[in-house]
Amino acid sequence: MSQNPDVIVIGGGVIGLAIADALARQGVSVTLLERGNCGREASWAGAGIVQSGSWHRRDPLVQMQRESVRLYESFAADLRERTGIDPEYIRCGSLEVLLEDQHYRMARSEVKVAAAFEQDYGRKVLELLTPQQTQASEPALTHDLLGAKCCPMTGQVRNPRLLQGLCAACRRGGVEIVENCGVERLRIQNDRVTGVQTPQGLRSAAQVILAAGCWSSLLDERLAKVMPVLPVRGQIALLKMPTVVLQHVIERGRTYLVPRRDGHVVVGATQEPEAGFDKSVTAGGIGGLLGLATRLVPGLAPAVLVQTWAGLRPGTPDGRPYIGAVPGLTGLMAATGHFRSGLTLTPLTARIVADLILRGQTAHDISRCLPGRELENRLAASAGV
Ligand SMILES: Cc1cc2nc3c(=O)[nH]c(=O)nc-3n(C[C@H](O)[C@H](O)[C@H](O)COP(=O)(O)OP(=O)(O)OC[C@H]3O[C@@H](n4cnc5c(N)ncnc54)[C@H](O)[C@@H]3O)c2cc1C
Repeated sequence: MSQNPDVIVIGGGVIGLAIADALARQGVSVTLLERGNCGREASWAGAGIVQSGSWHRRDPLVQMQRESVRLYESFAADLRERTGIDPEYIRCGSLEVLLEDQHYRMARSEVKVAAAFEQDYGRKVLELLTPQQTQASEPALTHDLLGAKCCPMTGQVRNPRLLQGLCAACRRGGVEIVENCGVERLRIQNDRVTGVQTPQGLRSAAQVILAAGCWSSLLDERLAKVMPVLPVRGQIALLKMPTVVLQHVIERGRTYLVPRRDGHVVVGATQEPEAGFDKSVTAGGIGGLLGLATRLVPGLAPAVLVQTWAGLRPGTPDGRPYIGAVPGLTGLMAATGHFRSGLTLTPLTARIVADLILRGQTAHDISRCLPGRELENRLAASAGV
């Protein structure tokens, strides 16, 4: 075991693994410490939708999502080539079902805004479908709708396979992955993080990367002030049909159906910050998801309910991740708090963090994702700014 790698990554979710892989490929010696087994928390629990945010929004986080979506195809292909494990990224497109006039009007205005991006992408990025066009695209959908918002850029990835691929790539690239090795606390000397304390002893490194998902801010009381991360439970159900009934990701509010190519359909997800760190699955949670799924796609009623589970998204007070140096703790970099978009944002986050570690800067605008903004916001509020 290398006792003094260049970098220690805390957390073996999709974010920690992708960063470890990106750094190792550039010759950095990396140790990744995972409390349990890699890829068994939010990154495994997620539905695997890869998508840009609303075309109405122009903030840096949405820019980052769009950028990461653009990277996905080559990110997944490269992983497949290096490891032989196919994360099955496919650009299946999505249909957001429109059931009320108000949503239809909002969709129409978003389609107008999105038209400005067509030249950039060389294709339509958003379309408003009539009920007939919706039926032609997805015959299994309910007929009781006003239309659908179609986003052809939306994709999906089999996240458990993505995680297997990233683990394999890390191991091949020389990353030391230590499972069942939870970091108990950061080792801090004169406001510099010089390593971490684990049950197996002290580990030192010049740079520590905090990618511990919703547990990230529990490692030191200062973190809770400058970059609070909060668990947001999401429950999911997995259905199986004998044949493939849907082609697109189907969305309705926060509920979605993700059809896999083998007849499985993932139905997600609840959003329950009040559940804290409790990963229980509830009758109300799953019942609500299945009720809406069978209303949208009546043909799903005979589907077999294969499995249910819940995962904890790493949420932040403003919904944006923390990416970058942690103020007041030299040698510590955050890559966490990706909330509902961590699988989407993985390729870009890994690229940005590798840039920051190797070159001290990144070409991407992370100004609104920097740790420390919570404290600044609180100070500004108390000063009445
Ligand atoms: C139900 C649900 C549906 C979702 N759907 C989507 C989707 O469709 N598309 C999308 O883009 N995103 C989705 N997400 C969000 C996405 O899954 C997360 O944003 C992403 O997985 C976060 O990755 P992570 O690596 O930061 O966290 P995690 O996957 O939670 O990994 C953190 C790791 O750190 C480890 N750890 C914690 N504390 C310590 C410690 N002290 N020492 C060592 N290791 C530690 C944990 O054991 C864990 O393995 C969904 C999430 C959920 C729950």
